[in-house]
Amino acid sequence: MARTHGHGNPNWTRDETILALDLFQQLDGNVPSTKSKEIKELSDILRSLPYHAEAAKQPTFRNPDGVGFKLMNIRQVATGKGLGNVSSMDRQIWAEYGARKDEVHQIATAIKAGIATVGWEQIPDIEQELPEGRVLTALHMRRERNPKVRKMLLDNRRAAGFRCEICDLTRPDLDEPLQEAIFEAHHLVPLAEAGERKTKLADLALLCACCHRLIHRATVSKARWIGLNEARAIVVTG
Ligand SMILES: [Zn+2]
Ligand SMILES: [Zn+2]
Repeated sequence: MARTHGHGNPNWTRDETILALDLFQQLDGNVPSTKSKEIKELSDILRSLPYHAEAAKQPTFRNPDGVGFKLMNIRQVATGKGLGNVSSMDRQIWAEYGARKDEVHQIATAIKAGIATVGWEQIPDIEQELPEGRVLTALHMRRERNPKVRKMLLDNRRAAGFRCEICDLTRPDLDEPLQEAIFEAHHLVPLAEAGERKTKLADLALLCACCHRLIHRATVSKARWIGLNEARAIVVTG
């Protein structure tokens, strides 16, 4: 195995590590040769991910040797043997996803599909990266902030009065534009599950900005999707 240290390549992100874990699991824990088709394919995908723009121009960036090295690191975490070179990201992703092979595959498939949709320029600053990593977080935010989606949700709730579906906040005393400023659309279905389909009303919850932040934060900290009932329990019991 060629050395991959010392080239100044950026640390592996969640997205990248999830993709490597998926390959490792799909190969049943066998690490193939760095000349194999599987490693070449993953290397090409990683080099096309919509960030690390400068680093991706270096020939060593996520090259087959680097991918092979990462798979060996993941095998080290999986077997608990020879943990010297394992990164904290490797450990974290393994702890969260090591036993969730089918889910990892679903997420990896959605990340690969999402790379083309996100594009180079359009990954916004992401304050809270969802467990699925940056590409799917960017697409989730894009779905939620889509003005048509927001309008569809607000129009649906207008007659009954806007109310947060987690904390029940409602401010009928305020003018409607001010009420609308309080509320945001939250998409309830992980992109890896929903796929790239048109957002339906049933996919959405109307949340106050505070609860929206909370449900995303809880999803990040628990490393799994938090539903409205669970979020409500957090708010009610403190
Ligand atoms: Zn709320
Ligand atoms: Zn949301």
